[in-house]
Amino acid sequence: MLTLEEAQEQIFAALSSLLEVEKVSVAAASGRVLAVDVLAVVDLPGFDNSAMDGYAVRAADVAGASPEKPAVLRLIGHVAAGEVFTGEVATGECVRLFTGSPLPRGADAVVMQEDTRADAAHQNEVLICDAAKPWEHVRLRGEDVKRGEIILSAGDCVSFAQLNLLAASGVIEMSVARRSVIGLLATGSELREVGSPLAPGQIYESNRMMLAAALRQIGAEPRVYPIVSDTLEATSAALARAFGECDAVITSGGVSVGEFDFVKAAFEQLGGAMNFWKVAVKPGKPFVFGQLNGKPLFGLPGNPVSALVTFLLLVRPALLKMHGARAVELPAYPGVLSEPLVNRGDRRHFIRVKVEPDGQVRSAGMQASHALGALAVANGLVDVPAQTTLPAGSTVRVLRWGF
Ligand code: AMP
Ligand code: MG
Repeated sequence: MLTLEEAQEQIFAALSSLLEVEKVSVAAASGRVLAVDVLAVVDLPGFDNSAMDGYAVRAADVAGASPEKPAVLRLIGHVAAGEVFTGEVATGECVRLFTGSPLPRGADAVVMQEDTRADAAHQNEVLICDAAKPWEHVRLRGEDVKRGEIILSAGDCVSFAQLNLLAASGVIEMSVARRSVIGLLATGSELREVGSPLAPGQIYESNRMMLAAALRQIGAEPRVYPIVSDTLEATSAALARAFGECDAVITSGGVSVGEFDFVKAAFEQLGGAMNFWKVAVKPGKPFVFGQLNGKPLFGLPGNPVSALVTFLLLVRPALLKMHGARAVELPAYPGVLSEPLVNRGDRRHFIRVKVEPDGQVRSAGMQASHALGALAVANGLVDVPAQTTLPAGSTVRVLRWGF
């Protein structure tokens, strides 16, 4: 049986070809993997501007100002955000301005409105009640990002929080990996579509929607196929169709040793080559990886917990790599166990855990591969070696998929 690392290495080695590159607009870039570095087209900020609502001044004019001894400046105009003040601030003068207003020529500081007073006795004058250092409350041109600077690198997966930066830096479109199209098959004669009536012994099919959502999250495009019943013919026909239409195929169920497990046989009948079908992890020992016409097959176990864990550990990194992403593993964060985690078995166990906001980590509940209640509580995995107890109080690495 392969270790997880050996399995991952074999999968990575088999996925030599990257997806083609396409252009997307900034608005459509979230979740996409960059194929080339992105450079800022303009400086950020693009011009010196005010960080406050207040008055543009010459710092030297207000050097000694205080509430008791305000500096009196002549108000020569105002400039709203989006306008430009055409004049120049001379000694003894100030200009009313607002957050984002360009700093008028001659001024070298902003005094915020709260530190000023208007006075009926001083028409067209402003009392400045606080000193300002040169460039105080001024956002300087290029201090955030300089034109021509690399703002995001090839292999970065664009997050929604980065769209602001891209748009503000003048980027219009960028080169990203094409979205992979991933076929999703669920095998099992007991499975029924959600919402349809259940006869005795039948259950609702639930893996495809979970996997489809997980695929969308990494920028892949799921293609969901009808439920496949447990016959060689149906499995073979479904695989043939999915391989014809997709870049890779993920199946769930039908990869164990039972008489109704047809994924491997059907795949080989179509000419697929199996790389391996067992990995020494729990949950998820039966996991098939193979290739047909250069396209990967990921055969997940049917139990939904096993399907999710093997997807996260083996499929997600592979697909991210196909997209050219640099970071392919689940993000790992330290946490402290509030109770022991016990693995009495002889395979390493990826125990489903709940990380609390204070960093305390506990078991999410029943650690069984069909236990969906505990899975829904969980937001991470802790890798517990075979025959090992991790004691309460110990610091662990939590592989996170949720918050
Ligand atoms: P299998 O891997 O086909 O032996 O299935 C293992 C267990 O997972 C059985 O109890 C199945 O009924 C269940 N199962 C398989 N596929 C699914 C699915 N797509 N949705 C929900 N449960 C499933
Ligand atoms: Mg089955």
